[in-house]
Amino acid sequence: MIRVSNIVKYHGPVRILDGISVGFGKGQVAGIVGPSGSGKSTLLRCINGLERFQEGEVSVGDTIRLVGGPVSPPTKTLLTLRRAVGMVFQQFNLFPHMTALDNVLSGPVYALGTARADAIATARRLLDRVGLADKADSRPSQLSGGQQQRVAIARALAVNPAAILFDEPTSALDPKMSTEVMRVIDDLAGDEQFQTTMVIVSHDIPALRRVADVIVVLEQGKVAFAGPTDEAFRPGGPAATLHD
Ligand code: ADP
Ligand code: MG
Repeated sequence: MIRVSNIVKYHGPVRILDGISVGFGKGQVAGIVGPSGSGKSTLLRCINGLERFQEGEVSVGDTIRLVGGPVSPPTKTLLTLRRAVGMVFQQFNLFPHMTALDNVLSGPVYALGTARADAIATARRLLDRVGLADKADSRPSQLSGGQQQRVAIARALAVNPAAILFDEPTSALDPKMSTEVMRVIDDLAGDEQFQTTMVIVSHDIPALRRVADVIVVLEQGKVAFAGPTDEAFRPGGPAATLHD
């Protein structure tokens, strides 16, 4: 579903991503781990077209392709890409002036052009799925961090994306709220009907061990390991020394 081929990204003279190749299959749940500054967020942002890269390419499905280099990708490609690949950020990034329901509706209504009346039933179902059916009319400031992040997940799901990228979705949350959010991700990961690829950057190792099919370890802008979760965390394995 997502293929990253040999991408290289510089900030000034520094090679932030140093020839990364990795693939994520349809319906697969992948965890990305690695020290702070290893390039995890940059990799997600390159996949989602939020940042340019100098070399290599990213493809999503059969039709979307971003090529590194000095030329900006066409706006149409970027819009198609962002519909296909949703993102959930550490800081939620909800629209503060909109209710939870309107936040969830924002994708279908503004990005896809679906009539509000046609999108409401799905949006309410998604709020229910993340355990917030009773918060549809609340604004972000009236919700806890964990509730806001669950709204953000419902919003990402609302355009029925091919993939969702999560950049440390629980690291701004206390343990109880983290658990609430990871429970939603667990529920999606365990749902046979749900075929959306999920790529999760997280330091929550127990949660990744539970939900991820594969683990990618980044070190200094390179893939140090990519393979099955069991292998990554086995004693002496490439991610065994990472702790929660
Ligand atoms: P991670 O998410 O793994 O902590 P990042 O992808 O945020 O890592 O950052 C990777 C490296 O790129 C870090 O060394 C960071 O300092 C650097 N970096 C990120 N954004 C910029 C920027 N806009 N300008 C210069 N350096 C940056
Ligand atoms: Mg980061």
